[in-house]
Amino acid sequence: MAQTFKNIGIVGAGTMGGGIAMAFANAGFAVTLVDAQQAALDRGMLRISTTYTEAFQRGKIDSDTAAQRLARISPSTVLADLARCDFVIEAVFEDLKLKTSLAAQLGQVCDAATILASNTSSLDVNLLAQASARPDRYVGMHFFSPAHIMRLVEVVRGRDASDDSVNRIVDLVKELGKVPVVCGVCFGFIGNRMAEPYLREAEALLLEGATPSQIDAVAQSPEWLGMAMGPCRMMDLAGLDIGASIVAERAATTKLMDDASYRALVRALTAQGHLGQKSGRGFYRYEGRNAIELPETIELARSLAQKHGITQRSNITDEEILQRLLYPLINEGFELLREGVAFSSQDIDTVFTAGFGFPSARGGPMAMARAIGLDKIAAQMQAFARQRGNTYGYWTPSPLLVTLADQAALLKKV
Ligand code: NAD
Repeated sequence: MAQTFKNIGIVGAGTMGGGIAMAFANAGFAVTLVDAQQAALDRGMLRISTTYTEAFQRGKIDSDTAAQRLARISPSTVLADLARCDFVIEAVFEDLKLKTSLAAQLGQVCDAATILASNTSSLDVNLLAQASARPDRYVGMHFFSPAHIMRLVEVVRGRDASDDSVNRIVDLVKELGKVPVVCGVCFGFIGNRMAEPYLREAEALLLEGATPSQIDAVAQSPEWLGMAMGPCRMMDLAGLDIGASIVAERAATTKLMDDASYRALVRALTAQGHLGQKSGRGFYRYEGRNAIELPETIELARSLAQKHGITQRSNITDEEILQRLLYPLINEGFELLREGVAFSSQDIDTVFTAGFGFPSARGGPMAMARAIGLDKIAAQMQAFARQRGNTYGYWTPSPLLVTLADQAALLKKV
């Protein structure tokens, strides 16, 4: 039986650390929230108290509940105050050197039985686990933003993590009222890794002449897909600077940037200071939460297309948009299964329905793949490779997809 954790430690009082603190406080845990900077800690605590006040004002919680939740969070600038915690998660800046050094310090400060975690979105959890000197009691715990609201948590199982540690963290996520999915270590884990080709193709379609509202309409239409939010609106909500920084991180570790047009639009908009909803303008401009099409984005896409030698077309169909968005995402899912990073198709589907607004009526991308037919998806990937060229391997079907598609074709004959 899993033991219940009593005292939770969180390092970093920024966007994620504050949200994670509220997620624990809301579930009744005592939280110590540490930041290195007094000013950052004060800002973080102010954001938390404002969130509770607003929840009270909107009638979501009563004033006693708001006060109790806030009182459960004790701010501190002293790392040693985490010595009494039996679970500690860090959410400091995404910097390997900083996180490695913090893992080592936490390994020394915390009790030997304490389980440590990182909320990293892209760094190698195995390296952090090693640095902590307790790799069996170290996991990745990838919350999504805003962490006190989003249900999905990817529990990242490093090479040396023990079954006991992973099981206890899975139970802990459930105690928070959230949905855990265990996965292995890779860049982007399950969700962000599969979202990458989806967002890449959304931007490629924009350079080829589709508009943000055309792409989002296909993604959101129940007839085609039924996502809660199309890819352009999703990127605007997450912040285009986050997309641009992921591009930069990937550039350091992969060969993707050989494709000079890769995510060119998100990088150009970020460079111009158009970061999405938070700056009032990204792919769209915003009046409140209303997204309004921007001729400037369409013009920017046109000029980037010219720069990168991409011919614009006016004949992009809804079916092409659906297939270009969905099939590479599904293909990446098969790669994750083949590599052993995802442990089941069901896990992948849970990531997308719980964390990415994928319509649960469709089961998830892998269930949808089975409904479409694996042979049809593999054949269309190969057709795109022929029509569009495949210099960067974007349209190479996963060997697992090809094998299963072949088997499905054989089974039809039996
Ligand atoms: P942020 O910049 O909002 O906050 C980081 C905080 O860490 C700051 O308050 C800073 O003062 C503090 N800090 C830095 N060094 C410290 C140290 N040595 N000790 C204590 N505190 C320190 O960052 P964020 O957006 O909350 O991201 C935090 C982590 O969460 C990153 O690893 C990021 O990749 C990950 N993440 C972010 C998102 C997102 O949407 N923002 C989503 C999932 C995961």
